[in-house]
Amino acid sequence: MRRRNIKDASTKVNMSKYIINPEERIDFKKLFNNDNPNHIEIGMGKGNFIIEMALNNPNINFIGIEKYSSVILQATKKLDNLDFIPNLRLMNFDATNLKDIFNDKSIDLIYLNFSDPWPKKRQAKRRLTHENYLKIYDDLLKKNGDIYFKTDNRGLFEFSLESITNYGYKIKNVCLDLHNTELDFVNVKTEFEEKYGANSPIYRLEAYR
Ligand code: SAH
Repeated sequence: MRRRNIKDASTKVNMSKYIINPEERIDFKKLFNNDNPNHIEIGMGKGNFIIEMALNNPNINFIGIEKYSSVILQATKKLDNLDFIPNLRLMNFDATNLKDIFNDKSIDLIYLNFSDPWPKKRQAKRRLTHENYLKIYDDLLKKNGDIYFKTDNRGLFEFSLESITNYGYKIKNVCLDLHNTELDFVNVKTEFEEKYGANSPIYRLEAYR
């Protein structure tokens, strides 16, 4: 994703009422005041997906995570123009350190949408579906927790299929052209998908234990 350096992005982001300060471990029950399922999106970008998901599913708690403050700032700006969405929070945070902020077995579903492909072989460890990340997700996910992954990058999709199955997850609802299947009717598009989705088929899978 193209990034511009926005002056004081981090200060501006932290002023948003959606932003969780990552100094304390997340207690979902306390944060949302309910026992509803907890879903997170890693690499939420400018937030279209997680905002729409939260609006469509008021009985699910959503936390969107994005590494770059200049990117997450775009999401907080969108949210400033909407009524407060009580089941949504955002974090400006690097997924590498997820274990520092989430308790083990606290998450029901992890979304990975159009994750950076890191195409070079030596960059494989940076892919969010590399086994090092899968290990983190495995710790954080509840026993029946799922990972939903979609991408337009065939190389990343093939790598992820292999990495996820080798890790021990099972795979269901595999799509090789999401926008031309019946799953498309329930699909919520990300901004990347909205912009480039017509140029290439969208691959999608659901991983479960
Ligand atoms: N999901 C959005 C953005 C996709 S681009 C969409 O589909 O439109 C991938 C995003 O993941 C970028 O915004 C990037 O900054 C973020 N990202 C990459 N590695 C990350 C990490 N380790 N932790 C958190 N976010 C990350």
